[in-house]
Amino acid sequence: MRQVVLESPRELKVVDAFDPAPGIGEVLVEVKTSAICGTDLHIYNGGTPVDYPRVLGHEVAGVVHGVGEGVTEFGLGDAVAINPNLICGDCERCILGKENLCERGRLLGREVDGTLREFLVVPQVNAFKLPPAVTFVAGALIQPLSTVVHAQRLADIRSTESVVVLGQGATGLMHTRLSKLAGASPVIAIGRTPAKLELAEAMGADHVVGAADDEPVVEVWRLTGGQGADVVIEAVGRPETLLQAMQLLKPGGRLIAFGISPEPLPSLDLYRMYMTETTIVFPRAMSRADFHRAVALVATGKIDMAPMVSANYALDDAADAFRFAEEDPSKVLRVALHL
Ligand SMILES: [Zn+2]
Ligand SMILES: [Zn+2]
Repeated sequence: MRQVVLESPRELKVVDAFDPAPGIGEVLVEVKTSAICGTDLHIYNGGTPVDYPRVLGHEVAGVVHGVGEGVTEFGLGDAVAINPNLICGDCERCILGKENLCERGRLLGREVDGTLREFLVVPQVNAFKLPPAVTFVAGALIQPLSTVVHAQRLADIRSTESVVVLGQGATGLMHTRLSKLAGASPVIAIGRTPAKLELAEAMGADHVVGAADDEPVVEVWRLTGGQGADVVIEAVGRPETLLQAMQLLKPGGRLIAFGISPEPLPSLDLYRMYMTETTIVFPRAMSRADFHRAVALVATGKIDMAPMVSANYALDDAADAFRFAEEDPSKVLRVALHL
């Protein structure tokens, strides 16, 4: 089979490898679509170091091509999405139901080889069946959606609470949609790119605010009657937007730091956080339950994944796909690779 290997930062190659075979309790998946996200780009450019060579990718959907001994839930030809978080199931975190924090947790495409290849073997508990109506593209995006489902669960948005989503990339748009589905009112979407703000409106945002033109802090305070928002979701992943997110919060509000930043925060107004009893949550990854719910959201048409893909490439053109994904982030939601 062919696979995309990162040999050192920015050095991608398509190489031949042996076809993997499923062991006990494992399924062999023929990859159909694998999407590239910011996590892949951080690994690609060396910001997140990995052991080289490494096969990249963790957002994937495909078809069951073989099953190992003891696999009863899957048959040949089943369409599946893959939860790329491998967990031990035995550590304290796993036993207590916080498997996203597993002490021995590994992510496909980071700690172990990932999904940018023709065939993939995973434990059957990591595979989720897709109904026929779900496309492979939508199936590949169920993984990022499941991390959004996880963060929304921690945000615990109540009906009529005001929610601000800062950043309208693919996961920001998913947050906008799920906040609306949770009954938030108003849902205020902040973003830099007009095309993404249009999508945010289509996802159900009550108000969109241009980060480039409008003064987001002034606008949010105006739109919330001078109160600030009950929940602010930072989906950019930069220190400055996290600080801005704090300025948008109502006293007693919850800040969901969803975007991941490798940089430290330059300053934090601790006294203000004390006076406003600020809660900050840093959601990480997802559980199987979140993944299951993400499949249901897509299967029931509660969220449309089609607009999330900005460009399509063949697996053999992976190097071009990564260059495109990095070139101008304002133009990119997700880049999909197909087999
Ligand atoms: Zn991802
Ligand atoms: Zn564990």
